[in-house]
Amino acid sequence: MQAELTKLLDLQSKDMTLLEADVRLKAILDEVARLDGEVASVKRDVQVAQKRLEDGVKRRADLESRIEGYRSIQDKRRQRLEAVKGAREAQAVMTEVEMARAILIKEEGEWVKVAEGVHDLERGLKAAEERVTGVEERQAAERQQLAEEQARLEAERDAARGARDDSAVQLDRVLKARYDRLRSARSVAVVVPLKGEACGACYTSVPRNRRTQIRAGILLDNCEACGVILYAEETLG
Ligand SMILES: [Zn+2]
Repeated sequence: MQAELTKLLDLQSKDMTLLEADVRLKAILDEVARLDGEVASVKRDVQVAQKRLEDGVKRRADLESRIEGYRSIQDKRRQRLEAVKGAREAQAVMTEVEMARAILIKEEGEWVKVAEGVHDLERGLKAAEERVTGVEERQAAERQQLAEEQARLEAERDAARGARDDSAVQLDRVLKARYDRLRSARSVAVVVPLKGEACGACYTSVPRNRRTQIRAGILLDNCEACGVILYAEETLG
């Protein structure tokens, strides 16, 4: 029984090492995800700026074709004005030309505003793109460090898993099944020494006859309250 207990504790210690490697690896992956999130956020700003610029450019183009249309109609009015004979008719066309001119001035004023807006949007897009580059440059060293750390931890975890598996095959099958069942339910120690008269995990007292058997090394008993496998430290000698 003592030999099995030694193997059991060896397996548990290797499982703890494996668990610790997993936890540290997860912390690195979380950190990488945080950096990815930061980049994604500034990239979204770029997309928004691109969309706004596209809208501005389209609005400017629409205005340009409208203004062009007004101008060609205006040219035709002027040609008509040259051709008219009567003063009355000339006056009527003249009024039309004046009215159309006022509209054209208004539209051109609008074009200037929109064109200035497009310049602002272009600057905004450039600034957003520079922020992406800035974030990526700022992250480069950290990412490099994280990638190295990740590779190191993955190797460490693989080694820990290998050591764990080597340990596990040494153990009695029934005992291993019992241990695995317990471990799947909890991430803390599942092979726990007695503390005085109680279970070392939940401190529920263990009946005296069972304590005696555990201390004598003839029983690897489960705690009735929390289920951990109990042993006595002194049996390890
Ligand atoms: Zn217990």
